[in-house]
Order: sequence, then structure tokens, then C-alpha cells
Amino acid sequence: MNNSIIQPWPQGMLSVKLTDFAGQKKAVELMDKALKGDRVNHAYLFYGPEESGKFTFSLTMAKALNCREGKGDSCNSCISCGKIDRGIHPDVSVVEPEGKGIKIEQIRRIKTLSSFRPNEGEKKIYLLKDAHTLSLPAANSLLGILEEPPSYVVFILLAPQLSLLPDTVVSRCLCIPFNRVPRREIYEFLKKQKSSLSDRQLWTAAHLAEGSIGRAVSMLNSDSWSQQREQAFTWWKGFIACSQKELFSYVEELSREEHLLDFLNFIESYYRDCLIYQAAGIEELIVNIDYLEEIKEMKPGSNEELIQKIEVLENFKRKMHIPLNKKLALEAMLVKMKGVTE
Ligand SMILES: [Zn+2]
Repeated sequence: MNNSIIQPWPQGMLSVKLTDFAGQKKAVELMDKALKGDRVNHAYLFYGPEESGKFTFSLTMAKALNCREGKGDSCNSCISCGKIDRGIHPDVSVVEPEGKGIKIEQIRRIKTLSSFRPNEGEKKIYLLKDAHTLSLPAANSLLGILEEPPSYVVFILLAPQLSLLPDTVVSRCLCIPFNRVPRREIYEFLKKQKSSLSDRQLWTAAHLAEGSIGRAVSMLNSDSWSQQREQAFTWWKGFIACSQKELFSYVEELSREEHLLDFLNFIESYYRDCLIYQAAGIEELIVNIDYLEEIKEMKPGSNEELIQKIEVLENFKRKMHIPLNKKLALEAMLVKMKGVTE
């Protein structure tokens, strides 16, 4: 466990006020009411899919709770907000799994530390990432302090699903759901925050972000993003035209790719665009609008075949976090994708 935030503000993420936090209306409304009415709960459980903004929201909430200027929100300019942005606020701690999960020793340490009043802020905040990995003894130990925490302590637990946590823990928290953000909302958010960029860039990022504002922002912040997108398009055109014999050089190129998930997401978006154009013929629905003419002519398979190829890609992406022989797995995937047309 760390005494201060180990990962400061998520890379590339824009620091916004709690009330400007996009895409999670329910969480914002609840917290805004609680903060302005001085009725903050002692334990929250934010649950929902990965990259839906749970961690960023909890940091925003930590800022609002300890802000010196924001009057119930985060100002993003006072000393306290600045320290949370930089990950050095002494009263905000992030607890992450050590090894397979959060251990009882980590919870014991929280108990000891929470008996001291905050150093600088109003509240001491403990953010438990991946709270579903709490070992049973750790969860039981946590119950003790969740029942009767000191008045200045706020726990924020983050987890993908409620059902993965013991009922006893869930019942002691105020549970708030998080969802993937619709494209339109991501686009509106980007438009406000990144007004210097073209509409096409914003719209493309909103489409490719898979419901994650954080991902959309880091795409737009990255210099290499457009370059990688172009590279993926060139790879894809070659892959579609290549013979089974030439396939291995495409496996090689993909296995050297540093940001493989982003690369595969680009490829998937090209297939989706082909499918949408073939099936519906609606140009406005195409994400990679700048490649429209080529996408219209590509015809990499029938509608049914394109759906299958997308499924093969999706399956691979789902298993990517499992340790595997990357090259072999990529080869199997590309052979399958090629095979769909034969
Ligand atoms: Zn502030």
C-alpha cells in the first residue's frame, strides 16, 4: 500500500470539475448533492466495466472533498487539487492488489493510518482499486472499519461487478453504477475540451474509444495516433490482398506492434465500416470517413464473412490479457480471418 497516490492523474486525462464530468450523470448528480449538502457517505462502491471512468471519477471526488476553493466541487487550481493531480496528497491513498489480490496486511495498515486525523485536508480518502480481489480475511477485516469509520475517513471501492464482492461489503457501501459512455457524449466532451481539433478528428476518436473518454483523450494527445492509424490501414489493405503464403510477414509485423490493442481496434473499425457501408450504404455512419473512397471499394467479404472476421478479432482481444505465445496466437487469428473467405 502506498501513502499517496501511486498513479497520479491518469495519463493524458483532462482535469475537469466534478460537475463537468462527462458520461456518468448518475454518479455526478449523487455526489454533487452529497457534497453540497454535506452528506458524504463514509463508503462508496463504484462498479462497472473497465475504462468507464471509475478511477478518474474517484480522483475528481477526492479533489472535491479536499478542495480549498471549490465549495463542494474541485477547482483544479488550489494546492490541494494540484497535489492530487500530481499524486502527492498525503491524505489520499490508493490501494492496489499486491500479487493476486488485496491482502489483510494492507487493510490492517489502513486501519492504523486512519486512526490519525488528516494531515492537510478535510477528509482522508482510501481508494481501493480492484476491490473484488480482496482476500476473504482482508474483506472481513475491512468490514470492521466500514461499520464504524472515523468521521473524516471516506472509502471508495472500485470493482467491475457487485456480484464479485461479498454481500457484507456491498451492503455497507453506497453503490453507484458506471457505464461505457455513448459516442455522442464522448464527442460533445471532446468538442468542449479540444476545440482546436477538427470535427473529423474528434468524431473519429469518439468512435474508436469504445465508450471510454479517457481512451479518446489519450488518443488525441498522442502524436503517434494518426500515424499508427494510417499504418494500420496500410497493413489492413495488404493483409486483405495477401496470399496464405505471404501471411507470415503480416504476423511478424503485427507481433512487433507496441500498441497492439489500439492497432487491432483500428483494423476492427475498418471492417465495421465496410460492413456498415455494404449492409446499409449510409456514409454518415462510417467512422473512418477520410478513408471512405477506399473503404467503398475494398469489399473484403460478404456481410456474414465480415461479421465473422470481427468476431475473431473480438475473441482475440478478450484473451489478450492472458499470458500466451503472442506470435502463435496472432498467427492463429490471422489464419482464421483469412479462412473466413475461403
Ligand atoms: Zn481545489
